[in-house]
Amino acid sequence: MAERRIVTTTPEETQECGRQLGSKLLALHRGATVCLAGDLGAGKTVFVKGIASAFGIPPRDVGSASFVLVAEYDTTPLFVHIDLYRIERSADLEELGIWDYIGGEAIVVIEWAERLNELPDEAVGVRIEQLSETEREIFITE
Ligand code: ADP
Ligand code: MG
Repeated sequence: MAERRIVTTTPEETQECGRQLGSKLLALHRGATVCLAGDLGAGKTVFVKGIASAFGIPPRDVGSASFVLVAEYDTTPLFVHIDLYRIERSADLEELGIWDYIGGEAIVVIEWAERLNELPDEAVGVRIEQLSETEREIFITE
């Protein structure tokens, strides 16, 4: 497993970094799971906006309703954005049916993936560290 490290200095750069990963996943022609980790405000949603843009989803449509835990977009392949920030009990995870999406044909992107009881196999890992107000260190393991 190779780990890449990228430092960005603007949200646009982080979004672009996500877009590049999204294009790569699209080119693979198979389902994939991306697990994002990092503190609140690290830039996970910004990165997801980038991934989504590779699927033709307008970035403003991503993460706009913070109470939505699972957002499914009508793309080919299906793009699913899961944000577990507000998950309170592991029983809620079952109800969300997250595992029904994982391992199938969809591209599933999960913020706060560390809140899952177990991590999906073969997931791409993205960890974002805040170096300063505007600098972000992004580690991508695929
Ligand atoms: P998270 O989803 O990890 O909680 P968000 O993506 O919602 O974080 O928010 C990241 C915040 O940090 C945004 O307000 C964004 O404008 C700001 N920001 C500043 N610099 C960067 C950067 N280099 N990359 C990503 N976001 C940045
Ligand atoms: Mg977020």
